[in-house]
Amino acid sequence: MTTAEIIAAGAELLTPFRADTNSLYLTSGLNELGIEVVRKTIVGDERERLARAMVRGLQENRLVLVTGGLGPTEDDVTRPAAALALGISLARDPEQEAIIRAWFAGRQTPMPERNLRQAEILTGATALPNPLGTAPGQYWEGEGRVLVLLPGPPRELQPMWREHVLPRLRKRASAVGWLHRTLRIGELGESRVDEAAAPIYTQYPAITTTILTAQPGEIELHLRAPDVPGRAAQVGELADRLASELAGHLVSAQGESLESVVVSALAGRGQTLAVAESCTGGMTGERLTRVPGASRVFNGGMIAYTNAVKQEMLGVEKEILERDGAVSEACVRAMARGVRRLNQSDWGLAITGVAGPGGGSPEKPVGTVWIGCAGPDEALEIRLRRFHGERERVRQAAVFSALWLLRQVLKETV
Ligand code: ATP
Repeated sequence: MTTAEIIAAGAELLTPFRADTNSLYLTSGLNELGIEVVRKTIVGDERERLARAMVRGLQENRLVLVTGGLGPTEDDVTRPAAALALGISLARDPEQEAIIRAWFAGRQTPMPERNLRQAEILTGATALPNPLGTAPGQYWEGEGRVLVLLPGPPRELQPMWREHVLPRLRKRASAVGWLHRTLRIGELGESRVDEAAAPIYTQYPAITTTILTAQPGEIELHLRAPDVPGRAAQVGELADRLASELAGHLVSAQGESLESVVVSALAGRGQTLAVAESCTGGMTGERLTRVPGASRVFNGGMIAYTNAVKQEMLGVEKEILERDGAVSEACVRAMARGVRRLNQSDWGLAITGVAGPGGGSPEKPVGTVWIGCAGPDEALEIRLRRFHGERERVRQAAVFSALWLLRQVLKETV
C-alpha cells in the first residue's frame, strides 16, 4: 500500500467559506506511514457523484479515505454513497444503535429518530468509535482495498484517525516513512530563490524540493523523500548546500519561524526588545508573543497610530510630524528610540507606513514603509521599503521586514 486518495465530502467545502483542512492532517499522517497521497477530491452532498469518486479512487489506489457526510441529515450521503460504490448494503448495527441511544441519554436530550441512520454500517465493515460525536467511522476492507469513512469535524476525525485508523494502516503499510525538512528564506522572491536553489536541488532527483511563498516576505523550501537507507544523509547534505547558497537570506535551516529565531537570538544575548507600530497596529507584538517564552525578551510596545500618540507617548517631535510627516525617516527614528527608552529595552523596533488603499501620494505611494531599529548604544538602522499589494499584504510584509532587520542587526553586532 503506497498510494492513497482522500475524498472530502460536504457542499460547504465547495463554497468560499470553508476550506478542507482534514486532508492536510490526514496527508501528514499517511506520509509518516510512507503512503503518498496522489489525489484529493472535494465532492458536494450528492450520493452518485460521491460514489463515482469512491469507485475511481479504489480503482486506482488501494486506500481511499473519505471525510465528512456521516451526520444524521438528508444531505449526509457518505454511507449510502459507499454502499453504492462497493455494491454492498448498509444495515443497522444494534451495538452502534445502543451507543447512540446512550449518548443522548447521557445528555438527557431526546434522540431524533434520524440519528439512528448513523448506526448503519456497511456489510463487513468495522465501526470506529467516536467518543466526541454520534457518528462512528467505518473501516472496510476487501479485495486488497481499504475504504475508510471518517467524520467531518476535525476534533472528531483526529482522535479517530490516531486511535483506530493509524494502527490498522500501520500493519499494512510498508515500513518506509517520509523525511521532511523545511528551510525558511527571507526577503527574496520565489523565482530568485529557485534561480539560486535549482542548480543544487536538481542534482538530487530522489528528493522532492518544493518552493512555496509562506507569507509576504518569506519563502519556504520543502525537501521530502521516502526514508530509505542513506536518504536521510542526502536530505541533510542537500539542506546544508541550500542553506549555504542562500546564507545571506536564511531565516532558519530547521524550519523555525522568524519570530522564534529573533526571540532565541535575543535570549542568547540576554537582551530585551520593545516595538512601536503604526500601520501594523500591533501585529509585530502578536507575532513575537506567538513564541512560547517570549516574555524573556519581549517587554512590550505601543500601537502609535495617530500623530498625537506618536508625539505624546513616544516623544516624536511636533516639528518632525509637521515637516516630514508620520511616514518618514525622521519619524521612524524617533519612534524606535522613543519606545526603546520608554520600555527600558535594549532594542527598539519601529514601523510606520502607508498600508493603503487610500492615503498614498506621489512621494509616498501606498506600500511605502519605514522601518527603524534602535540598539543598545543608540545606534540606528533604518530601511525604506516599498511593498506591493493590498493592505493586509503590505502590513504582513512590513512586520516580516522589521523582524528581519532586527535579525540582521543582531547577526552583525556581537
Ligand atoms: P456531523 O455528524 O457533526 O454532521 P459529519 O461527518 O456529517 O459530522 P459534516 O457535516 O460533513 O460532518 O461536517 C461537519 C463540520 O465539520 C463542517 O461544518 C466543517 O466545519 C467540518 N468539516 C467537514 N469536512 C471538513 C474538512 N474536510 N476539513 C475541515 N473541516 C471539515
